[in-house]
Amino acid sequence: MIIKIANLSDGIHTLSFDENISEIGVSDPFYGNCKVKVKLSKSHSQIVLNAELNLEANYQCDRCGKDYKTKVQNNYQMVYLFWDEPENNESFNLIYLPIDADKINIANDVRDYALLAISMKKLCKEDCKGLCPRCGKDLNEGKCNCIEKETDPRWEPLEKLKNKLNN
Ligand SMILES: [Zn+2]
Ligand SMILES: [Zn+2]
Repeated sequence: MIIKIANLSDGIHTLSFDENISEIGVSDPFYGNCKVKVKLSKSHSQIVLNAELNLEANYQCDRCGKDYKTKVQNNYQMVYLFWDEPENNESFNLIYLPIDADKINIANDVRDYALLAISMKKLCKEDCKGLCPRCGKDLNEGKCNCIEKETDPRWEPLEKLKNKLNN
């Protein structure tokens, strides 16, 4: 994912990439292509880059274990400065370029932001009912025959008290 900047005029430029995920060095859970829309805002000493990432991933639901496909999106901004790099550049979103730089490669940044966008919580749908802990039936497909009423041990003292009061 290389952007040629040698003859780039000052002002706003947009471009887009649509490349296989191997081009940015990611694999599972991603599959297919990685689409990136890029907006460049160039002035004589800097380029501000805004990128919008769109990928597809195969996730496994945390609750029911089913595989499902989902879209993964992320955005980031990077500032490229035509300036000598100071000794400790610890800025996360700032890259120094030699004044005669003729291209920038965004593959590594796109990879990092794609990986950051992988959800911690993976649910095939917001209200996935998961599997019955006793028989393993997928409760999204309907109720199982397990007896629902099994008292949580934490409620036992309360249950006893309730029974006492009722008697
Ligand atoms: Zn699920
Ligand atoms: Zn069950």
